[in-house]
Amino acid sequence: MLGPRQEAQGALFYEFSIEDHVPADHVLRRIDSFVDLTDIRCFLAPYYSSTGRPSIDPELMVRMLIVGYCMGIRSERRLCEDVHLNLAYRWFCRLDLAAPVPDHSTFSKNRHGRFRDSDLFRHLFEQVLERCIAEGLVGGDQFGVDASLIKADASRYTKVEAAEWSPPVDASRAVQEYLDTLDDAAFSSATMVKPKALSPSDPAARFTGANGDRAFFAYSTNYLVDLDNAVIVDVEATAPIRQAEAGAAREMILRAKERFGLYPEMLAADTAYGSADMLGWLVEDEGIEPHIPVFDKSERKDGAFPKTDFIYDHEADEYTCPGGKTLKPYWRTFKKTRPEFGKDGFKKYFARKEDCAACALKPKCTPKQATRKIARSRYEGARQMARDIAKTDAYVSSSYARKKVEMLFAHLKRIIGLDRLRLRGPNGAKDEFHLAAMVQNLRKLAKLVPDPA
Ligand code: SF4
Repeated sequence: MLGPRQEAQGALFYEFSIEDHVPADHVLRRIDSFVDLTDIRCFLAPYYSSTGRPSIDPELMVRMLIVGYCMGIRSERRLCEDVHLNLAYRWFCRLDLAAPVPDHSTFSKNRHGRFRDSDLFRHLFEQVLERCIAEGLVGGDQFGVDASLIKADASRYTKVEAAEWSPPVDASRAVQEYLDTLDDAAFSSATMVKPKALSPSDPAARFTGANGDRAFFAYSTNYLVDLDNAVIVDVEATAPIRQAEAGAAREMILRAKERFGLYPEMLAADTAYGSADMLGWLVEDEGIEPHIPVFDKSERKDGAFPKTDFIYDHEADEYTCPGGKTLKPYWRTFKKTRPEFGKDGFKKYFARKEDCAACALKPKCTPKQATRKIARSRYEGARQMARDIAKTDAYVSSSYARKKVEMLFAHLKRIIGLDRLRLRGPNGAKDEFHLAAMVQNLRKLAKLVPDPA
């Protein structure tokens, strides 16, 4: 039987509860039980004036930002529209049906102003991490570290020659932040190599072709992850440069130890973290097992004997080559003592020229040079430890577990929608990465702790 035509009936009174219309299994309902913003007003109070018009409730703005990052809504304008229309979003933001939604422009003022000055997003990220620890999701023994490129809000078509660019008199916020971070090892001073191209709208972003596709301006988001449940233990924004990313890894490990007493037994990472000084720091300073492939530039690609064919004698501090001859740092005594290691942290060992000249193995050992040279790092013990670990079953499983960090980056870009930044400058990248990592941890809590206390 055909039913009656459905027409809107304008009722005089409604009995309506938003609470009843948000499904029990809605992701925001599950996340809500882990969001504790009770101290946010006290935290931000010093950043508000004691006079003037009352502000928008900061808790409402933070809740809206959590909705935005959780549901992949990156535009603040669209976020305001969606919160206005969506009942679940209204419920999460503690807005009843008639309550007005703040204007999108208030976000911009607060995000670039008091939220940034107070480092609010770092505070919120750490609060959520504390909850993860309290719920037993963080084992604290096995960590993984990695970095991922995120496109900056800077067009590749407006790039200029770095040598020809100078900051304008009326410098924008992003330009000012670039000037402030010129000596920062996470950004401009990460490497001595100066960039050739630069974006006038966001000069701290680096022009990179590391993805193998067309080059673009980018920042790196760095994650330190507990491998038990893939909880993000720390997050840092850096320039997309290997040295800056390794520096961020050190900083995050030290901060996790200092702030939360988390002291990992092992760290899994890729070759970008396998430099000699990084391995030396992990093993000798921190006592952490490096499940990291050794970054070795001395590997021969011409088929010559590899370094492993040369036997090191620790007592005599010399190598013995496959032809049975000795390689030493010096073959004569100098009046003036020379530094043991070069500026690169390596000590060089040489065979005698006459030994190599008379050797039948020379074509297989040093076909182009007159004598064979072996470089030994100041941290060779740590490098050897990493090589030995790489042969174990534990390394196979840690390499597999390390994929969890890459999965988090895939989730960040595909579900959270952070494949391109909306805020400019190092602080903009930092804010966005902290918010996104916090939301990823909240989603993890919602998934793994179905009945929170
Ligand atoms: S070429 Fe020189 S270093 Fe190489 S095996 Fe012969 S003697 Fe030893």
